[in-house]
Amino acid sequence: MRPALWPAEVVVDLDAITANVRALRERVGGTELMAVVKADGYGHGLVPSARAALAGGACSLGVAQPTEALALRDAGITAPVLAWLTTPDLDLRPLVEADVEVAAVAPWGLRALAEAARATGRPAATQLKVDTGLARNGAYGIPLRAGDPRTDWTELVEEAARLEAEGVLRVRGLFTHFAYADAPAHPTVRAQQEAFADAVAVAERAGLRPEVRHMSNSAATLTTPEASWDMVRPGLSVYGLSPVPELATAAELGLRPAMRVTARAAVAKRVRGGQGVSYGHTYTTSGETTLLDVPLGYADGVPRHVSNRAPVQVRGRRFTVAGRVCMDQFVVDVGDLDVGAGEEVVLFGAGDDGEPTAQDWAEAAGTISYEIVTRFGPRVPRRHL
Ligand code: PLP
Repeated sequence: MRPALWPAEVVVDLDAITANVRALRERVGGTELMAVVKADGYGHGLVPSARAALAGGACSLGVAQPTEALALRDAGITAPVLAWLTTPDLDLRPLVEADVEVAAVAPWGLRALAEAARATGRPAATQLKVDTGLARNGAYGIPLRAGDPRTDWTELVEEAARLEAEGVLRVRGLFTHFAYADAPAHPTVRAQQEAFADAVAVAERAGLRPEVRHMSNSAATLTTPEASWDMVRPGLSVYGLSPVPELATAAELGLRPAMRVTARAAVAKRVRGGQGVSYGHTYTTSGETTLLDVPLGYADGVPRHVSNRAPVQVRGRRFTVAGRVCMDQFVVDVGDLDVGAGEEVVLFGAGDDGEPTAQDWAEAAGTISYEIVTRFGPRVPRRHL
């Protein structure tokens, strides 16, 4: 990659990631921390983010897809890695060979792991995921009928115990995921903790002795410390963003946003008052003014929904996206600011110098900061500091 050829970049402050992990670890005392680095490290770069998180004291790494886990191994990362999203048709042998822990949510997953273990001659490592009320992936651990304790979870742990006894499988952990961690007073937060405690007891009665039991994403790590068990599993907060923006800002949580997105203006021009701007002329200049054309568009990850809404910073001053975001560019009306082509436009950053944050962009786009940072595409290179 030749950065000089690119008109925009995502700059990632890896020291911020390290410091965020350290701050999160301090918050949860001695509890271990698995840093979630799926989705290309939430857009910050998979391998550099993983290394920075490990430097801050993360004990292991969590990803969704097996290919993400293998990419970490290919980069020479030897820390425990858990991949939690597999489908029945996957060949799990490369994962077992690479000592990746593959989550199981149903007996078919365990049988596939056992088969891969027999084929490779090494035991497979797994963590069992129980659905305690999110109703997404995980074995449903809540009895369907009163008086009948059987669930998908009981079936899963019994199969796991059988395969462990055969020596082809090691169950390193048990875990679940909250539905409402960002609303800590919501009754499901308590109910899911109780359901998880029941699920752990069922697994232990079946003979499993997991090293780690965990349920807390960023929001639960920060707001519900009693749910920490042996390990927490934050993602968003590792990158310095608040998972509970209505309750506390990143700074209030002691977090520093790691991502900064900037572009160089491709065009700067004076236009007359009353000029409609960009497709559909949804913005009209109120007087003679300078327009900057910014070479980033929805194909790069700038949501079209921020048209006429998102703030940007130019020369320390805030302006708003003017008119519709196009596929490759958007326009900013900077009034009489004396700037030309090549001027730096900051979309968002840590916020220390008055620049907008990813949270500001999320609000402008009517979404969450997760979606803002994960969507910058391959035309926007990452530069790691
Ligand atoms: N655990 C699981 C299973 C997840 O899917 C995710 C992300 O969605 C996380 C942990 C991390 O969540 P957060 O980024 O909210 O901390």
